[in-house]
Amino acid sequence: MHILVTNDDGLSAPGIASLAAALRRIPGARVSVMAPAQNQSAAGHRKTLMDPLRINAAKLYDGTDGFACSGSPADAIALALLGFIKEKVDIVVSGINLGPNLAQDITYSGTVTAAMEAAISGLPAIAVSLDTFEHADYSVAAAFVEKLTPIVLGRGLPPLTLLNVNVPTTPIKGVKITRQGHRIYRDKLVELVDPMGRPYYWIGGDRPTGHVEEVGTDVWAVDQGYVSITPIRLDMTDQAMMADIERWGLTA
Ligand code: MN
Repeated sequence: MHILVTNDDGLSAPGIASLAAALRRIPGARVSVMAPAQNQSAAGHRKTLMDPLRINAAKLYDGTDGFACSGSPADAIALALLGFIKEKVDIVVSGINLGPNLAQDITYSGTVTAAMEAAISGLPAIAVSLDTFEHADYSVAAAFVEKLTPIVLGRGLPPLTLLNVNVPTTPIKGVKITRQGHRIYRDKLVELVDPMGRPYYWIGGDRPTGHVEEVGTDVWAVDQGYVSITPIRLDMTDQAMMADIERWGLTA
Protein backbone atom coordinates (compact mmCIF):
# COMPACT_ATOMS: atom_id res chain seq x y z
CA MET A 1 0.00 0.00 0.00
CA HIS A 2 1.56 3.25 -1.17
CA ILE A 3 0.04 6.30 0.52
CA LEU A 4 0.69 9.85 -0.70
CA VAL A 5 0.39 12.43 2.07
CA THR A 6 -0.04 16.16 1.62
CA ASN A 7 -1.53 19.17 3.43
CA ASP A 8 -2.12 22.90 3.00
CA ASP A 9 -0.39 24.15 6.16
CA GLY A 10 3.02 23.52 4.58
CA LEU A 11 5.45 20.61 4.72
CA SER A 12 6.96 21.71 8.05
CA ALA A 13 3.61 21.91 9.89
CA PRO A 14 3.20 19.52 12.85
CA GLY A 15 -0.07 18.05 11.56
CA ILE A 16 1.34 16.46 8.42
CA ALA A 17 4.18 14.89 10.41
CA SER A 18 1.66 13.31 12.81
CA LEU A 19 -0.39 12.04 9.86
CA ALA A 20 2.57 10.55 7.99
CA ALA A 21 3.87 8.89 11.17
CA ALA A 22 0.47 7.31 11.87
CA LEU A 23 0.10 6.01 8.31
CA ARG A 24 3.62 4.53 8.39
CA ARG A 25 2.44 2.33 11.28
CA ILE A 26 -0.07 0.56 9.00
CA PRO A 27 1.35 -2.91 8.22
CA GLY A 28 2.58 -3.04 4.62
CA ALA A 29 2.24 0.71 4.11
CA ARG A 30 4.76 2.90 2.35
CA VAL A 31 4.30 6.65 2.73
CA SER A 32 5.47 9.42 0.39
CA VAL A 33 5.08 13.07 1.37
CA MET A 34 4.73 16.01 -1.00
CA ALA A 35 3.32 19.31 0.24
CA PRO A 36 3.57 23.04 -0.40
CA ALA A 37 6.69 24.68 1.03
CA GLN A 38 4.58 27.59 2.28
CA ASN A 39 1.28 27.68 4.17
CA GLN A 40 -1.42 27.47 1.49
CA SER A 41 -4.50 27.45 3.73
CA ALA A 42 -7.61 28.64 1.83
CA ALA A 43 -5.70 28.33 -1.46
CA GLY A 44 -8.71 26.62 -3.01
CA HIS A 45 -8.32 24.33 -6.00
CA ARG A 46 -5.68 26.40 -7.74
CA LYS A 47 -3.72 24.84 -10.58
CA THR A 48 -0.52 26.72 -11.43
CA LEU A 49 -0.20 26.92 -15.21
CA MET A 50 1.45 30.32 -15.80
CA ASP A 51 4.48 29.89 -13.52
CA PRO A 52 7.12 27.19 -13.19
CA LEU A 53 6.96 24.87 -10.19
CA ARG A 54 9.93 23.80 -8.07
CA ILE A 55 10.36 20.78 -5.83
CA ASN A 56 12.98 20.39 -3.08
CA ALA A 57 13.74 17.52 -0.73
CA ALA A 58 12.92 18.81 2.76
CA LYS A 59 12.35 17.66 6.34
CA LEU A 60 9.02 17.38 8.07
CA TYR A 61 8.46 18.70 11.61
CA ASP A 62 9.68 15.39 13.07
CA GLY A 63 12.81 15.22 10.89
CA THR A 64 11.47 12.63 8.43
CA ASP A 65 11.84 13.11 4.67
CA GLY A 66 9.45 14.65 2.21
CA PHE A 67 9.25 16.96 -0.77
CA ALA A 68 8.32 20.63 -0.57
CA CYS A 69 6.96 22.29 -3.70
CA SER A 70 5.97 25.74 -4.81
CA GLY A 71 2.34 26.21 -5.80
CA SER A 72 -0.87 25.01 -4.21
CA PRO A 73 -1.83 21.76 -2.44
CA ALA A 74 -3.54 20.62 -5.66
CA ASP A 75 -0.28 21.35 -7.49
CA ALA A 76 1.55 19.12 -5.00
CA ILE A 77 -0.78 16.23 -5.82
CA ALA A 78 -0.59 16.88 -9.56
CA LEU A 79 3.22 17.01 -9.50
CA ALA A 80 3.41 13.78 -7.52
CA LEU A 81 0.84 11.82 -9.53
CA LEU A 82 1.96 13.08 -12.94
CA GLY A 83 5.26 11.32 -12.42
CA PHE A 84 7.52 13.00 -9.87
CA ILE A 85 6.70 10.14 -7.48
CA LYS A 86 7.68 7.11 -9.54
CA GLU A 87 5.94 4.35 -7.57
CA LYS A 88 2.18 3.89 -8.18
CA VAL A 89 0.09 5.64 -5.50
CA ASP A 90 -2.93 3.77 -4.07
CA ILE A 91 -4.54 6.47 -1.91
CA VAL A 92 -4.04 10.14 -0.98
CA VAL A 93 -4.51 11.47 2.55
CA SER A 94 -4.44 15.23 3.15
CA GLY A 95 -3.96 16.89 6.55
CA ILE A 96 -4.03 16.95 9.43
CA ASN A 97 -5.22 20.51 9.05
CA LEU A 98 -4.97 22.97 11.94
CA GLY A 99 -8.57 24.17 11.87
CA PRO A 100 -11.84 22.56 10.79
CA ASN A 101 -13.01 22.27 7.18
CA LEU A 102 -16.78 22.17 7.51
CA ALA A 103 -19.72 23.02 5.26
CA GLN A 104 -18.76 25.69 2.70
CA ASP A 105 -15.15 25.70 3.95
CA ILE A 106 -14.42 22.86 1.54
CA THR A 107 -14.56 25.25 -1.40
CA TYR A 108 -11.72 27.29 0.13
CA SER A 109 -9.76 24.55 1.83
CA GLY A 110 -6.42 23.49 0.38
CA THR A 111 -6.66 20.39 2.56
CA VAL A 112 -9.87 19.32 0.81
CA THR A 113 -8.95 20.51 -2.70
CA ALA A 114 -5.77 18.43 -2.57
CA ALA A 115 -8.05 15.43 -1.98
CA MET A 116 -10.25 16.65 -4.86
CA GLU A 117 -7.22 16.68 -7.15
CA ALA A 118 -6.51 13.09 -6.16
CA ALA A 119 -10.14 12.12 -6.85
CA ILE A 120 -9.91 13.74 -10.29
CA SER A 121 -6.79 11.64 -10.86
CA GLY A 122 -8.86 8.53 -10.14
CA LEU A 123 -7.60 7.78 -6.63
CA PRO A 124 -9.48 7.39 -3.36
CA ALA A 125 -8.75 10.35 -1.09
CA ILE A 126 -9.31 11.45 2.50
CA ALA A 127 -9.07 15.01 3.88
CA VAL A 128 -8.54 15.30 7.65
CA SER A 129 -8.94 18.41 9.77
CA LEU A 130 -8.78 19.15 13.49
CA ASP A 131 -11.42 21.41 15.04
CA THR A 132 -9.06 23.86 16.71
CA PHE A 133 -6.82 26.74 15.76
CA GLU A 134 -4.72 26.44 18.92
CA HIS A 135 -1.45 24.55 19.30
CA ALA A 136 -2.92 21.15 18.73
CA ASP A 137 -2.66 17.53 19.79
CA TYR A 138 -3.02 15.57 16.55
CA SER A 139 -2.74 12.11 18.12
CA VAL A 140 -6.47 11.25 18.26
CA ALA A 141 -7.08 12.34 14.66
CA ALA A 142 -3.94 10.54 13.49
CA ALA A 143 -4.96 7.30 15.20
CA PHE A 144 -8.41 7.52 13.60
CA VAL A 145 -7.00 8.00 10.10
CA GLU A 146 -4.61 5.12 10.70
CA LYS A 147 -7.71 2.92 11.18
CA LEU A 148 -9.77 4.53 8.40
CA THR A 149 -7.24 4.49 5.56
CA PRO A 150 -6.93 0.70 5.07
CA ILE A 151 -10.73 0.41 5.25
CA VAL A 152 -11.17 3.02 2.51
CA LEU A 153 -8.55 1.33 0.39
CA GLY A 154 -10.22 -2.05 0.88
CA ARG A 155 -13.77 -0.89 0.16
CA GLY A 156 -12.86 1.77 -2.40
CA LEU A 157 -14.74 4.99 -3.08
CA PRO A 158 -16.99 5.83 -6.05
CA PRO A 159 -15.33 7.84 -8.84
CA LEU A 160 -14.84 11.58 -8.16
CA THR A 161 -15.63 11.12 -4.49
CA LEU A 162 -13.59 11.82 -1.35
CA LEU A 163 -14.11 11.63 2.40
CA ASN A 164 -13.95 14.86 4.38
CA VAL A 165 -13.08 14.01 7.99
CA ASN A 166 -13.22 16.51 10.86
CA VAL A 167 -12.08 15.58 14.35
CA PRO A 168 -13.08 17.48 17.51
CA THR A 169 -10.58 18.18 20.27
CA THR A 170 -13.11 17.51 23.02
CA PRO A 171 -13.39 13.88 24.26
CA ILE A 172 -14.62 11.85 21.25
CA LYS A 173 -18.13 10.40 21.61
CA GLY A 174 -18.05 8.38 18.38
CA VAL A 175 -18.31 8.73 14.62
CA LYS A 176 -21.14 10.33 12.61
CA ILE A 177 -21.57 10.08 8.85
CA THR A 178 -22.76 13.55 7.95
CA ARG A 179 -23.89 15.93 5.21
CA GLN A 180 -22.49 19.40 4.64
CA GLY A 181 -23.98 21.97 6.97
CA HIS A 182 -24.05 25.74 6.82
CA ARG A 183 -21.24 28.02 7.85
CA ILE A 184 -21.74 31.55 9.09
CA TYR A 185 -18.79 33.63 7.90
CA ARG A 186 -17.99 36.82 9.77
CA ASP A 187 -15.44 38.30 7.38
CA LYS A 188 -14.77 42.03 7.55
CA LEU A 189 -12.86 44.28 5.18
CA VAL A 190 -9.89 45.78 7.03
CA GLU A 191 -8.40 48.84 5.33
CA LEU A 192 -4.96 50.10 6.34
CA VAL A 193 -2.52 52.58 4.86
CA ASP A 194 0.99 51.74 3.65
CA PRO A 195 4.08 54.01 4.21
CA MET A 196 3.46 55.62 0.81
CA GLY A 197 -0.02 56.65 1.85
CA ARG A 198 -1.80 54.05 -0.31
CA PRO A 199 -4.62 51.95 1.12
CA TYR A 200 -4.24 48.18 1.37
CA TYR A 201 -6.67 45.56 2.54
CA TRP A 202 -7.06 42.39 4.56
CA ILE A 203 -10.02 40.05 4.61
CA GLY A 204 -10.28 40.00 8.41
CA GLY A 205 -12.98 39.50 11.00
CA ASP A 206 -13.77 36.76 13.50
CA ARG A 207 -13.59 33.00 12.96
CA PRO A 208 -16.65 31.54 11.25
CA THR A 209 -19.38 29.89 13.29
CA GLY A 210 -22.09 27.62 11.91
CA HIS A 211 -25.61 26.31 12.29
CA VAL A 212 -24.81 23.75 14.97
CA GLU A 213 -28.55 23.08 15.46
CA GLU A 214 -28.88 21.39 12.02
CA VAL A 215 -28.84 17.74 13.13
CA GLY A 216 -26.91 15.37 10.87
CA THR A 217 -24.51 17.94 9.47
CA ASP A 218 -20.74 18.12 9.77
CA VAL A 219 -21.05 21.37 11.76
CA TRP A 220 -23.44 19.69 14.22
CA ALA A 221 -21.43 16.48 14.63
CA VAL A 222 -18.16 18.18 15.50
CA ASP A 223 -19.95 20.57 17.86
CA GLN A 224 -21.46 17.52 19.62
CA GLY A 225 -18.05 15.84 20.03
CA TYR A 226 -18.25 13.32 17.17
CA VAL A 227 -15.76 12.61 14.42
CA SER A 228 -17.55 13.75 11.25
CA ILE A 229 -17.15 11.89 7.95
CA THR A 230 -18.80 13.57 4.94
CA PRO A 231 -18.63 11.85 1.56
CA ILE A 232 -18.07 14.64 -0.97
CA ARG A 233 -18.83 14.32 -4.69
CA LEU A 234 -17.16 16.54 -7.24
CA ASP A 235 -20.36 16.41 -9.28
CA MET A 236 -22.03 19.47 -7.76
CA THR A 237 -24.99 19.41 -10.17
CA ASP A 238 -28.29 20.36 -8.57
CA GLN A 239 -30.48 17.67 -10.17
CA ALA A 240 -33.75 19.11 -8.87
CA MET A 241 -32.92 22.57 -10.17
CA MET A 242 -32.31 21.16 -13.67
CA ALA A 243 -36.01 20.32 -13.94
CA ASP A 244 -36.95 23.78 -12.66
CA ILE A 245 -34.79 25.51 -15.24
CA GLU A 246 -36.26 23.29 -17.97
CA ARG A 247 -39.60 25.01 -17.21
CA TRP A 248 -38.11 28.49 -17.72
CA GLY A 249 -38.66 28.03 -21.47
CA LEU A 250 -35.22 29.25 -22.44
CA THR A 251 -34.45 29.46 -26.17
CA ALA A 252 -31.28 30.29 -28.06
MN1 MN B 1 -4.65 24.81 6.55
